[in-house]
Amino acid sequence: MFDIGLNLTSAQFAKDRDEVVARAFAAGVNGLLLTGTNLHESEQARQLAQRYQHCWSTAGVHPHDSSQWTHESAEVLHRLAQTPEVVAIGECGLDFNRNFSTPEDQERAFTAQLALAAELGMPVFMHCRDAHERFLALLEPWLEKLPGAVLHCFTGSRQEALDCLNRGLYLGITGWVCDERRGLELRELLPVIPADRLLLETDAPYLLPRDMQPKPASRRNEPAYLGHIAERVAHWRGEDAQWLAAQTDDNVRRLFGVQF
Ligand SMILES: [Zn+2]
Repeated sequence: MFDIGLNLTSAQFAKDRDEVVARAFAAGVNGLLLTGTNLHESEQARQLAQRYQHCWSTAGVHPHDSSQWTHESAEVLHRLAQTPEVVAIGECGLDFNRNFSTPEDQERAFTAQLALAAELGMPVFMHCRDAHERFLALLEPWLEKLPGAVLHCFTGSRQEALDCLNRGLYLGITGWVCDERRGLELRELLPVIPADRLLLETDAPYLLPRDMQPKPASRRNEPAYLGHIAERVAHWRGEDAQWLAAQTDDNVRRLFGVQF
């Protein structure tokens, strides 16, 4: 069971990173992909991936940080991407929900990172909120040049899921789906995702699954809770959790080319 989305560079893990990673592996997680969200954190994520066994990282600039994108950004990411720890370009994409960077800056940074991934022949780790049409329009021309792409933390509609699947994307499912208030639509569309396109992630420290029993003392999410997400997702898909975990592990190996 592999967590494809862990923000281990977050300050929320500053005091106990080693313990968080150890707890994950003790809980049956067998690999972690650490998210890089800007140049600095992508380098930090790489260093953490180097420190821990069965950890890899992404290198990219998140839509929120896209206003910082410059020509040098591509060079820095290019250098990071040459290292053995970095197995995908991202987190990149569009977030028109909060628009922390302007839509123009987001589109420029996203396109530049798709071009970089295509040049390097690397998969992309993507984010999309309230930007489905533009996201697909920008992504489409690059798809045949990319070895693979995942839309992480998928929270869109059934039609949006089908649009992504029809274009060959993998979908990352987080504990969002465990939220009885806003995760219902996602829960109901889970069965339309083929088992060979599904990936599991915590997006920790964010998105603590709301239905954990007993509720963790802290509201902070951890990779050790991936098993809970896997179990719930398998339940709502009518599948065995162990079988689904093995399938998603195969998907990780195929998409990111990692051995664990
Ligand atoms: Zn994201």
